[in-house]
Parts: sequence; C-alpha cells; structure tokens
Amino acid sequence: MPGERLLLDAIASTALLRGPRAADEFLQKTELWRPEQLLPHQLKRLQHVLHHAVDAVPFYRERAAAYAGFLQAEPSLDSWHSVPWLSRADVLDQREALRAGRFPPEQQVEREANSSGSTGRHVSVLVSRASSRVIDAIAERDHRWHERDTALSAAAIRAVPRGTKLAGGGKRAWGRGGGRLSVLEVHTPVREQLDWLLEREPAYIATYASNARALLQAAKARGIRWSALRELGTFGEVVDDSLRQLAQAVWGVPLVDAYSCVELGYLALQCPKHPHYHVQSENVLLEVVKPDGGSALPGETGRVVVSTLHNYAMPLLRYDLGDYAVVGQPCDCGRGLPVLERVVGRVRNLMRLRTDEGDDVLWPRYASNVLGKYFAVRQFRLTQVAYEDFVLALVSDPLGAEKEANLRRMVLQQLERNVPHPLNLEIRYVSEIPRGAGGKFEDFVCDFREE
Ligand SMILES: [Zn+2]
Repeated sequence: MPGERLLLDAIASTALLRGPRAADEFLQKTELWRPEQLLPHQLKRLQHVLHHAVDAVPFYRERAAAYAGFLQAEPSLDSWHSVPWLSRADVLDQREALRAGRFPPEQQVEREANSSGSTGRHVSVLVSRASSRVIDAIAERDHRWHERDTALSAAAIRAVPRGTKLAGGGKRAWGRGGGRLSVLEVHTPVREQLDWLLEREPAYIATYASNARALLQAAKARGIRWSALRELGTFGEVVDDSLRQLAQAVWGVPLVDAYSCVELGYLALQCPKHPHYHVQSENVLLEVVKPDGGSALPGETGRVVVSTLHNYAMPLLRYDLGDYAVVGQPCDCGRGLPVLERVVGRVRNLMRLRTDEGDDVLWPRYASNVLGKYFAVRQFRLTQVAYEDFVLALVSDPLGAEKEANLRRMVLQQLERNVPHPLNLEIRYVSEIPRGAGGKFEDFVCDFREE
C-alpha cells in the first residue's frame, strides 16, 4: 500500500497504466477499510483537485475566496463543509467556465457525458481518461461482487444516444471474459423487447427499473423465461422491494441495482449480501445532507451531494445531484464502504403541500402496486399540477364507472394520509406515457415546482 497521500492517485495511475483489473486489486483492499480510514485520503485528494480547480478552472478561480478555508488548512470534514455547493443550474449555465484550461496529460478529455435533465436540458460533462479508467475499475468490482461470469452474454436495454459507440450496433464484449453484449433502444415496445431477449437468451440483463417491471409483467403474462438468465440488473431509477420480488417470482433471478449518474459514474453499488448500497468512496466523496445542513445519520434522509476524486478535466465538487437517499447502518458483509439504505428519488418526485406552518414536501405514497394488481392498467403516471390537484394518466382500456370510482378512492386515500387538506384527482386515459429523453420513467411527478 502506498503512503497515505498517494492512495487515490495510485488507484487512478494503476487503472490507467495496468487496467481496471489491476486497479480492482487495490479496491479489494480499500473496500474493507472503515469510512474513517478512507476519509483522510479523500480529503487530501479533494484538496489536490480543488487546488487544481482554483488554478486552472475559471469557475473556481473566480470564486477562489470561497475555497480558501478548505485549501489553507490541514484538510478536515469541518473545513470541507465550508465549500459551497454546485447546483445543476451551475453545471448547465457555467459549462464552459467549469472546464479546465489545462491539466496533466493523464487528465486529457476522453469523452463527453450527457445526461438529460428533468427539464429537458442536457447536462454535459467532460470526463478525463483517468476518471474513465477508475469508473471501469468500479465496473470490474461490480462484476466481482455479484460473481458475474463475463464469458456469458449480456443484454442492455437503455436509451442509446445517437452517434455514440453504443448506437453503432455490432458485436461488443462487456467484460474481460469476452461475453457478447447486445444493446436495444429502450423506446422499443415491450413485446418486441421480450422477443429480442428470447432470441438471445442472455445470462444478464441491464435496464431501467420501470422497464424491468414492464418486462417482468409482460413475461409473466406470456409465460416467458429461459434457463440461462442469471441476473436482472437495473440502474438510473428508484428500485423498491416489490420489483425485487417480481424478478424472483417471474424469472427466479436476483435483481441487482447500481446507483450512478452520467456526470460522475458509479456512486454506490448494491451489496452482494443485502439489497442496500455501498458508496464507491474511491471514486467520489458522497455526502447525504439534511435540510438543516447537518450530515444524515443512519435512518435519516438527505440530499445527495457528490464530489469527484479523479476528474480534473471538469471537476464537479459538492455537486447537488437533486437526489434524496437514506443513510444505512454499517454493513455486516465485511465491507467498510458507507451504506445507503435506499435512494428515494429526485426533488421533482416529491409532493408539495400547504400546512399551517407553511409549505412542506413529502414522498408520496399512493396505490402504485394496487394499480397493476387490481386494475387492468398497463402503465400510469400521477402528476401533481397544483397543491390540491392531481392527474392520474392511465394506459388502459376504460375501467368502467364502478372500478374507476374504486381506483379514485384508493389513490386519494393513500395520498391524503399525511396531507391536511382534501385533494382532487382527475383520471385520464392515454395511449402511452413517454419516457423522458434520457430514457428514465417517473411514476410520480410534481409539475409546479420552481427548479
Ligand atoms: Zn455489505
């Protein structure tokens, strides 16, 4: 093991020079460390990244005074907390100013990562070679944790940006074993997706949680399964227990989720022993911050704020992703990496309400599992259009007056549980509910939030 100051640098250099598998040998050791053992390395590295940023990135240079507190002292969590947050709006509006004017050779820009935001505006981040290789090493760790055989075939059903490597089709391997990866555009109708999967019978599938649910429901209805399938992987959306149960019931396989974002890559991977997540502390410093500004403790919910440890080309530091997560207790699996119990969703998936004390928000509970179970509904989305007004869009044959009244009652009952005023629900039948441009699907959206 290298000296304290060099640990994260050594992981990046190893990933660059000797490949992701060699870097994963490092990761096998560091994943056993307690968070308080890794933290000094992260803070030291962040000081290094921030020094570079203030020197070479206009956005940080212009705000240098705000970072002096952290840069001028021995790095500590306290002084780190004085570093201002970076918002999504900053990343959208200050894109040019956030690019480094110069950087070391291993930090040459390798690619541009694009994420489509909820507002339809694209966040675009330059990713350096070193940062890309570390992300590859974390992917290697993910395969190791979940004991994937990379000689077997895999299928990804996702949004495929035009003009990218993925869009090209053709044969690709997805890991060292040379197993073939097939990619299908997620906007393909689900029946066709299933036919496509059946032709390939992959051992592994990776897709968005909402698409996984649609596939499982369609496969259940048509009695489709194949024995080669080992795992259903998900990413990019919130996963709940009912989806894990459905994967076991219909296909007899575990569901393995990963928490990532296009701007920084892997943030947390699912533990091999539990459905919760381990933060990828060698790639990012991930903070969960409560509304009062304090750090969330186990069981508490807060905003996810992340900082890159490796991307000097366009360093995002204390970047407010807009996600909320619940912090978990330390894990009994032997890995010391911090635990996220759940990722609960994005700001726009919060319901707004008026109370005597003023505005408030909550994670809505509504009869989402009831909808598919008791009513012939193929897809749905609930939209809050005003404090008291909701629209439930259904892809379904008309339910008839009685069923519709039942459905309205059930949904309103759930919604009104923690709300001090009555609510209105309009039901609309639609032919389809489109995904966002980034392929993501949200079944609850608050539509009148200032962003
Ligand atoms: Zn664990």
